[in-house]
Amino acid sequence: MTRILPQAHQFGFATRAVHAGQVAEPLSGAVMTPIYQTSTYVQEGLGKHRGYEYARTQNPTREVLERNVASLEGGTHGFAFGSGLAALDAVLKLFKTGDHLVCGENVYGGSHRLMERIYGNLGLQVTFVDMREVSNIERALTPTTRMIYCETPTNPMMNLTDLAAVGDLAQAHGYLYVVDNTFATPYFQRPLEHGADIVLHSTTKYLNGHSDMVGGLLITSRDDVAERLAFIQNAAGAVPGPMDCWLALRGIKTLPLRMRQHDASGRRIAEWLTRQPGVSKVYYPGLPSHPQHEIACRQMTGFGGMISLDLGDAARARRFVESTRIFVLAESLGGVESLIGHPASMTHASVPPAMRQAMGLTDSLIRLSCGVEDTEDLIADLDQALKT
Ligand SMILES: *Cc1c(COP(=O)(O)O)cnc(C)c1O
Repeated sequence: MTRILPQAHQFGFATRAVHAGQVAEPLSGAVMTPIYQTSTYVQEGLGKHRGYEYARTQNPTREVLERNVASLEGGTHGFAFGSGLAALDAVLKLFKTGDHLVCGENVYGGSHRLMERIYGNLGLQVTFVDMREVSNIERALTPTTRMIYCETPTNPMMNLTDLAAVGDLAQAHGYLYVVDNTFATPYFQRPLEHGADIVLHSTTKYLNGHSDMVGGLLITSRDDVAERLAFIQNAAGAVPGPMDCWLALRGIKTLPLRMRQHDASGRRIAEWLTRQPGVSKVYYPGLPSHPQHEIACRQMTGFGGMISLDLGDAARARRFVESTRIFVLAESLGGVESLIGHPASMTHASVPPAMRQAMGLTDSLIRLSCGVEDTEDLIADLDQALKT
Protein backbone atom coordinates (compact mmCIF):
# COMPACT_ATOMS: atom_id res chain seq x y z
CA MET A 1 0.00 0.00 0.00
CA THR A 2 2.54 2.61 1.04
CA ARG A 3 5.07 3.32 -1.65
CA ILE A 4 8.10 4.31 0.34
CA LEU A 5 11.40 3.28 -1.17
CA PRO A 6 13.74 5.60 0.69
CA GLN A 7 17.07 3.76 0.31
CA ALA A 8 15.87 0.77 -1.66
CA HIS A 9 19.31 -0.46 -2.66
CA GLN A 10 17.97 -3.86 -3.63
CA PHE A 11 16.29 -2.27 -6.67
CA GLY A 12 18.05 -1.33 -9.88
CA PHE A 13 18.90 2.26 -10.83
CA ALA A 14 16.01 2.80 -13.26
CA THR A 15 13.46 1.47 -10.74
CA ARG A 16 14.82 3.82 -8.09
CA ALA A 17 14.81 6.75 -10.54
CA VAL A 18 11.04 6.30 -10.90
CA HIS A 19 10.11 5.31 -7.34
CA ALA A 20 12.75 6.02 -4.69
CA GLY A 21 11.70 8.43 -1.96
CA GLN A 22 8.09 8.71 -3.06
CA VAL A 23 5.37 8.39 -0.44
CA ALA A 24 1.69 7.53 -0.70
CA GLU A 25 -0.35 10.74 -0.85
CA PRO A 26 -2.95 10.46 1.95
CA LEU A 27 -5.79 12.66 0.67
CA SER A 28 -6.53 11.14 -2.75
CA GLY A 29 -3.85 8.53 -3.35
CA ALA A 30 -2.32 10.59 -6.19
CA VAL A 31 0.32 8.42 -7.86
CA MET A 32 2.58 11.38 -8.65
CA THR A 33 4.03 13.51 -5.87
CA PRO A 34 1.91 16.68 -5.57
CA ILE A 35 3.39 20.17 -5.69
CA TYR A 36 2.92 21.27 -2.08
CA GLN A 37 2.62 24.95 -2.94
CA THR A 38 2.36 26.27 0.59
CA SER A 39 4.51 28.34 2.88
CA THR A 40 3.08 27.01 6.15
CA TYR A 41 1.18 24.11 7.76
CA VAL A 42 -1.67 23.98 10.27
CA GLN A 43 -0.85 23.24 13.90
CA GLU A 44 -3.59 21.42 15.76
CA GLY A 45 -2.48 22.85 19.07
CA LEU A 46 0.58 24.59 20.41
CA GLY A 47 3.54 22.48 19.37
CA LYS A 48 1.20 19.86 17.86
CA HIS A 49 1.90 19.38 14.14
CA ARG A 50 2.70 16.65 11.65
CA GLY A 51 6.41 17.42 11.35
CA TYR A 52 5.87 20.35 8.99
CA GLU A 53 5.95 23.89 10.36
CA TYR A 54 7.30 26.27 7.73
CA ALA A 55 8.29 25.62 4.11
CA ARG A 56 11.86 26.94 4.24
CA THR A 57 12.53 24.17 6.75
CA GLN A 58 10.36 21.35 5.34
CA ASN A 59 8.41 20.82 2.14
CA PRO A 60 7.09 17.37 1.14
CA THR A 61 7.80 17.82 -2.61
CA ARG A 62 11.36 18.87 -1.85
CA GLU A 63 11.84 15.96 0.54
CA VAL A 64 10.84 13.42 -2.13
CA LEU A 65 13.41 14.93 -4.53
CA GLU A 66 16.10 14.87 -1.81
CA ARG A 67 15.42 11.22 -0.94
CA ASN A 68 15.21 10.22 -4.60
CA VAL A 69 18.61 11.60 -5.61
CA ALA A 70 20.18 10.40 -2.33
CA SER A 71 19.13 6.90 -3.34
CA LEU A 72 20.52 7.27 -6.87
CA GLU A 73 23.91 8.42 -5.53
CA GLY A 74 23.94 5.65 -2.93
CA GLY A 75 23.78 8.19 -0.09
CA THR A 76 21.48 8.57 2.90
CA HIS A 77 20.79 12.33 3.04
CA GLY A 78 19.86 14.82 0.33
CA PHE A 79 19.57 18.62 0.48
CA ALA A 80 18.00 20.63 -2.32
CA PHE A 81 18.94 24.23 -3.12
CA GLY A 82 17.76 26.98 -5.43
CA SER A 83 20.71 26.41 -7.81
CA GLY A 84 23.91 24.42 -8.14
CA LEU A 85 25.86 27.44 -6.92
CA ALA A 86 23.55 27.80 -3.91
CA ALA A 87 24.44 24.17 -3.10
CA LEU A 88 28.15 25.02 -3.34
CA ASP A 89 27.54 28.12 -1.23
CA ALA A 90 26.11 25.85 1.48
CA VAL A 91 29.21 23.64 1.32
CA LEU A 92 31.50 26.67 1.68
CA LYS A 93 29.53 27.80 4.75
CA LEU A 94 30.90 24.72 6.54
CA PHE A 95 34.26 26.55 6.80
CA LYS A 96 35.60 29.59 8.57
CA THR A 97 38.15 32.36 8.01
CA GLY A 98 41.66 30.97 7.63
CA ASP A 99 40.57 27.55 6.38
CA HIS A 100 42.28 26.37 3.22
CA LEU A 101 40.64 24.49 0.36
CA VAL A 102 42.17 22.73 -2.62
CA CYS A 103 40.02 22.99 -5.72
CA GLY A 104 40.34 21.73 -9.29
CA GLU A 105 41.57 24.58 -11.51
CA ASN A 106 39.19 23.57 -14.26
CA VAL A 107 35.92 23.63 -12.26
CA TYR A 108 32.72 25.31 -13.47
CA GLY A 109 33.42 29.04 -13.93
CA GLY A 110 30.77 30.08 -11.41
CA SER A 111 32.21 27.74 -8.78
CA HIS A 112 35.60 29.35 -9.27
CA ARG A 113 34.04 32.83 -9.00
CA LEU A 114 32.13 31.99 -5.81
CA MET A 115 35.21 30.59 -4.06
CA GLU A 116 37.60 33.28 -5.20
CA ARG A 117 35.56 36.48 -5.24
CA ILE A 118 33.09 35.93 -2.41
CA TYR A 119 34.63 33.42 0.00
CA GLY A 120 38.14 34.65 -0.81
CA ASN A 121 37.06 38.06 0.51
CA LEU A 122 35.70 36.42 3.64
CA GLY A 123 39.07 34.85 4.39
CA LEU A 124 38.87 31.36 2.92
CA GLN A 125 42.09 30.42 1.16
CA VAL A 126 41.69 28.45 -2.04
CA THR A 127 44.46 26.87 -4.11
CA PHE A 128 43.43 25.83 -7.62
CA VAL A 129 45.39 22.89 -9.00
CA ASP A 130 45.35 20.59 -12.02
CA MET A 131 43.68 17.52 -10.55
CA ARG A 132 44.73 15.14 -13.33
CA GLU A 133 47.66 14.33 -11.03
CA VAL A 134 47.04 13.55 -7.37
CA SER A 135 50.59 14.74 -6.63
CA ASN A 136 49.48 18.29 -7.55
CA ILE A 137 46.89 18.10 -4.75
CA GLU A 138 49.46 16.75 -2.30
CA ARG A 139 51.81 19.63 -3.07
CA ALA A 140 49.05 22.18 -2.36
CA LEU A 141 48.15 20.84 1.09
CA THR A 142 48.83 23.05 4.12
CA PRO A 143 48.24 22.60 7.86
CA THR A 144 44.97 24.52 7.49
CA THR A 145 43.59 22.52 4.54
CA ARG A 146 40.02 21.40 5.23
CA MET A 147 38.51 20.35 1.91
CA ILE A 148 39.36 18.89 -1.49
CA TYR A 149 36.84 19.91 -4.15
CA CYS A 150 36.81 18.29 -7.53
CA GLU A 151 34.79 18.04 -10.70
CA THR A 152 35.28 15.11 -13.08
CA PRO A 153 35.03 15.15 -16.05
CA THR A 154 35.82 18.86 -16.02
CA ASN A 155 33.99 21.50 -17.96
CA PRO A 156 34.94 22.12 -20.74
CA MET A 157 38.38 20.43 -20.97
CA MET A 158 37.10 16.93 -20.07
CA ASN A 159 40.00 16.30 -17.70
CA LEU A 160 39.53 13.48 -15.24
CA THR A 161 40.44 13.07 -11.60
CA ASP A 162 41.10 9.62 -10.19
CA LEU A 163 38.22 9.66 -7.67
CA ALA A 164 39.42 6.73 -5.54
CA ALA A 165 43.01 8.02 -5.33
CA VAL A 166 41.81 11.42 -4.07
CA GLY A 167 39.38 9.62 -1.75
CA ASP A 168 42.31 7.77 -0.15
CA LEU A 169 44.26 11.01 0.25
CA ALA A 170 41.27 12.85 1.79
CA GLN A 171 40.56 10.01 4.18
CA ALA A 172 44.18 9.69 5.29
CA HIS A 173 44.22 13.38 6.34
CA GLY A 174 40.57 13.79 7.38
CA TYR A 175 39.74 16.36 4.70
CA LEU A 176 36.19 16.81 3.55
CA TYR A 177 36.04 15.45 0.01
CA VAL A 178 33.42 17.03 -2.25
CA VAL A 179 32.75 16.02 -5.85
CA ASP A 180 30.64 17.91 -8.39
CA ASN A 181 28.93 15.05 -10.28
CA THR A 182 26.82 17.24 -12.57
CA PHE A 183 28.43 16.07 -15.83
CA ALA A 184 28.46 12.30 -15.30
CA THR A 185 25.29 11.97 -13.16
CA PRO A 186 24.87 9.02 -10.79
CA TYR A 187 23.83 6.91 -13.77
CA PHE A 188 27.45 6.85 -15.00
CA GLN A 189 29.50 7.68 -11.87
CA ARG A 190 28.91 7.51 -8.12
CA PRO A 191 31.60 9.42 -6.19
CA LEU A 192 30.39 8.28 -2.75
CA GLU A 193 31.55 4.77 -3.72
CA HIS A 194 35.05 6.21 -4.23
CA GLY A 195 35.26 7.91 -0.85
CA ALA A 196 33.57 11.27 -1.44
CA ASP A 197 31.85 12.81 1.60
CA ILE A 198 29.50 15.05 -0.38
CA VAL A 199 28.26 14.89 -3.97
CA LEU A 200 27.11 18.17 -5.52
CA HIS A 201 24.71 18.58 -8.44
CA SER A 202 23.44 21.35 -10.56
CA THR A 203 19.97 19.80 -11.00
CA THR A 204 19.55 22.33 -13.80
CA LYS A 205 21.53 20.05 -16.11
CA TYR A 206 21.11 16.29 -16.68
CA LEU A 207 19.09 15.43 -13.57
CA ASN A 208 16.18 17.64 -14.59
CA GLY A 209 17.24 17.28 -18.20
CA HIS A 210 14.63 19.51 -19.86
CA SER A 211 16.19 22.98 -19.48
CA ASP A 212 13.13 24.33 -17.70
CA MET A 213 14.31 24.95 -14.12
CA VAL A 214 17.37 25.86 -12.04
CA GLY A 215 18.32 23.88 -8.94
CA GLY A 216 21.06 22.22 -6.93
CA LEU A 217 21.51 19.27 -4.61
CA LEU A 218 23.95 17.93 -2.02
CA ILE A 219 24.09 14.23 -1.13
CA THR A 220 26.00 12.68 1.76
CA SER A 221 26.09 9.47 3.80
CA ARG A 222 27.73 11.12 6.81
CA ASP A 223 25.27 11.91 9.58
CA ASP A 224 27.55 14.58 11.07
CA VAL A 225 27.87 16.40 7.72
CA ALA A 226 24.12 16.01 7.09
CA GLU A 227 23.31 17.64 10.40
CA ARG A 228 25.41 20.70 9.53
CA LEU A 229 24.05 20.93 5.99
CA ALA A 230 20.46 20.73 7.28
CA PHE A 231 21.27 23.60 9.64
CA ILE A 232 22.78 25.69 6.83
CA GLN A 233 19.95 24.88 4.40
CA ASN A 234 17.42 26.19 6.91
CA ALA A 235 19.50 28.99 8.44
CA ALA A 236 20.64 30.52 5.13
CA GLY A 237 17.44 29.57 3.30
CA ALA A 238 18.62 29.10 -0.31
CA VAL A 239 15.89 26.50 -0.90
CA PRO A 240 14.12 25.73 -4.19
CA GLY A 241 10.39 26.18 -4.65
CA PRO A 242 8.14 23.09 -4.81
CA MET A 243 7.34 23.58 -8.51
CA ASP A 244 11.04 23.35 -9.44
CA CYS A 245 11.47 20.30 -7.20
CA TRP A 246 8.53 18.66 -8.95
CA LEU A 247 9.98 19.40 -12.39
CA ALA A 248 13.31 17.88 -11.34
CA LEU A 249 11.54 14.81 -9.94
CA ARG A 250 9.64 14.33 -13.18
CA GLY A 251 12.82 14.74 -15.21
CA ILE A 252 14.77 12.22 -13.13
CA LYS A 253 12.25 9.46 -13.88
CA THR A 254 13.71 9.25 -17.41
CA LEU A 255 17.35 9.90 -16.45
CA PRO A 256 18.57 6.39 -17.43
CA LEU A 257 16.77 6.52 -20.81
CA ARG A 258 18.13 9.97 -21.57
CA MET A 259 21.68 9.22 -20.44
CA ARG A 260 21.85 6.15 -22.66
CA GLN A 261 20.91 8.28 -25.67
CA HIS A 262 23.24 11.17 -24.72
CA ASP A 263 26.02 8.59 -24.41
CA ALA A 264 25.25 6.82 -27.69
CA SER A 265 25.25 10.12 -29.60
CA GLY A 266 28.25 11.44 -27.68
CA ARG A 267 30.38 8.45 -28.62
CA ARG A 268 29.42 8.53 -32.29
CA ILE A 269 29.75 12.30 -32.70
CA ALA A 270 33.11 12.44 -30.88
CA GLU A 271 34.48 9.69 -33.10
CA TRP A 272 33.10 11.41 -36.23
CA LEU A 273 34.67 14.73 -35.19
CA THR A 274 38.14 13.15 -34.92
CA ARG A 275 37.90 12.38 -38.66
CA GLN A 276 36.97 15.94 -39.75
CA PRO A 277 39.86 17.86 -41.35
CA GLY A 278 38.93 21.28 -39.87
CA VAL A 279 38.89 19.97 -36.28
CA SER A 280 42.29 20.16 -34.60
CA LYS A 281 41.34 18.57 -31.23
CA VAL A 282 38.47 16.58 -29.76
CA TYR A 283 38.07 16.24 -26.01
CA TYR A 284 35.86 13.29 -24.96
CA PRO A 285 36.73 10.77 -22.21
CA GLY A 286 35.17 7.94 -24.22
CA LEU A 287 37.74 8.24 -27.02
CA PRO A 288 40.61 5.74 -26.68
CA SER A 289 42.89 8.66 -27.66
CA HIS A 290 41.82 10.63 -24.54
CA PRO A 291 44.95 10.64 -22.32
CA GLN A 292 42.90 9.51 -19.32
CA HIS A 293 40.61 7.06 -21.10
CA GLU A 294 41.76 4.27 -18.78
CA ILE A 295 40.62 6.22 -15.66
CA ALA A 296 37.31 6.97 -17.39
CA CYS A 297 36.72 3.26 -17.99
CA ARG A 298 37.58 2.47 -14.39
CA GLN A 299 35.26 4.94 -12.65
CA MET A 300 32.53 5.67 -15.21
CA THR A 301 30.06 3.30 -16.86
CA GLY A 302 29.36 5.70 -19.72
CA PHE A 303 30.78 8.97 -21.05
CA GLY A 304 27.69 11.04 -21.79
CA GLY A 305 26.98 13.71 -24.36
CA MET A 306 29.47 16.46 -23.53
CA ILE A 307 32.19 17.00 -26.14
CA SER A 308 34.66 19.84 -26.61
CA LEU A 309 36.49 20.51 -29.84
CA ASP A 310 39.07 22.99 -30.97
CA LEU A 311 38.92 24.45 -34.46
CA GLY A 312 42.32 26.10 -34.08
CA ASP A 313 41.03 29.49 -35.25
CA ALA A 314 38.84 31.88 -33.25
CA ALA A 315 37.07 33.38 -36.28
CA ARG A 316 36.17 29.93 -37.63
CA ALA A 317 34.94 28.92 -34.19
CA ARG A 318 32.66 31.96 -34.12
CA ARG A 319 31.25 31.17 -37.58
CA PHE A 320 30.76 27.54 -36.59
CA VAL A 321 28.72 28.22 -33.43
CA GLU A 322 26.58 30.71 -35.37
CA SER A 323 25.89 28.26 -38.23
CA THR A 324 24.34 25.22 -36.54
CA ARG A 325 20.59 24.80 -36.99
CA ILE A 326 19.74 22.04 -34.50
CA PHE A 327 22.46 22.76 -31.93
CA VAL A 328 21.17 25.89 -30.19
CA LEU A 329 23.72 28.55 -29.25
CA ALA A 330 23.12 28.89 -25.52
CA GLU A 331 24.72 28.48 -22.11
CA SER A 332 23.95 25.40 -20.02
CA LEU A 333 23.98 21.71 -20.90
CA GLY A 334 22.34 18.38 -20.19
CA GLY A 335 18.91 19.01 -21.72
CA VAL A 336 17.02 16.90 -24.26
CA GLU A 337 17.89 19.55 -26.88
CA SER A 338 21.41 19.88 -28.24
CA LEU A 339 23.32 23.02 -27.28
CA ILE A 340 26.52 24.58 -28.57
CA GLY A 341 28.64 27.10 -26.70
CA HIS A 342 31.84 29.09 -26.80
CA PRO A 343 33.29 28.69 -23.26
CA ALA A 344 35.84 31.54 -23.48
CA SER A 345 33.14 34.15 -24.04
CA MET A 346 30.17 32.41 -22.39
CA THR A 347 30.36 29.94 -19.47
CA HIS A 348 34.01 30.65 -18.63
CA ALA A 349 34.20 34.39 -19.31
CA SER A 350 34.65 34.94 -15.56
CA VAL A 351 37.85 32.82 -15.49
CA PRO A 352 40.94 35.07 -15.85
CA PRO A 353 42.32 34.90 -19.46
CA ALA A 354 45.80 33.77 -18.34
CA MET A 355 44.29 30.85 -16.45
CA ARG A 356 42.09 29.98 -19.46
CA GLN A 357 45.12 29.83 -21.75
CA ALA A 358 47.11 27.76 -19.26
CA MET A 359 44.42 25.08 -19.17
CA GLY A 360 43.96 24.92 -22.96
CA LEU A 361 40.67 26.79 -22.94
CA THR A 362 41.43 28.71 -26.14
CA ASP A 363 39.28 31.23 -28.00
CA SER A 364 38.73 28.55 -30.67
CA LEU A 365 37.34 25.96 -28.23
CA ILE A 366 33.71 24.91 -28.68
CA ARG A 367 31.57 22.86 -26.33
CA LEU A 368 28.73 20.60 -27.44
CA SER A 369 25.96 19.20 -25.29
CA CYS A 370 24.49 16.43 -27.44
CA GLY A 371 20.77 16.07 -26.80
CA VAL A 372 18.48 13.14 -27.54
CA GLU A 373 17.63 14.01 -31.15
CA ASP A 374 18.49 11.57 -33.98
CA THR A 375 22.26 11.16 -34.09
CA GLU A 376 22.27 11.35 -37.91
CA ASP A 377 20.56 14.75 -37.80
CA LEU A 378 23.09 16.04 -35.27
CA ILE A 379 26.04 14.88 -37.36
CA ALA A 380 24.52 16.40 -40.53
CA ASP A 381 24.04 19.68 -38.66
CA LEU A 382 27.67 19.79 -37.48
CA ASP A 383 28.82 18.81 -40.97
CA GLN A 384 27.04 21.69 -42.69
CA ALA A 385 28.25 24.14 -40.01
CA LEU A 386 31.87 22.97 -40.38
CA LYS A 387 31.63 23.62 -44.13
CA THR A 388 30.30 27.16 -43.66
C1 LIG B 1 25.91 24.63 -14.15
C2 LIG B 1 26.91 24.02 -13.27
C3 LIG B 1 27.06 24.43 -11.95
C4 LIG B 1 26.25 25.57 -11.36
O1 LIG B 1 24.89 25.23 -11.27
P1 LIG B 1 23.70 26.31 -11.38
O2 LIG B 1 22.49 25.45 -11.25
O3 LIG B 1 23.82 27.00 -12.70
O4 LIG B 1 23.89 27.24 -10.24
C5 LIG B 1 28.01 23.79 -11.17
N1 LIG B 1 28.78 22.81 -11.67
C6 LIG B 1 28.66 22.39 -12.94
C7 LIG B 1 29.53 21.29 -13.42
C8 LIG B 1 27.73 22.98 -13.78
O5 LIG B 1 27.65 22.57 -15.05
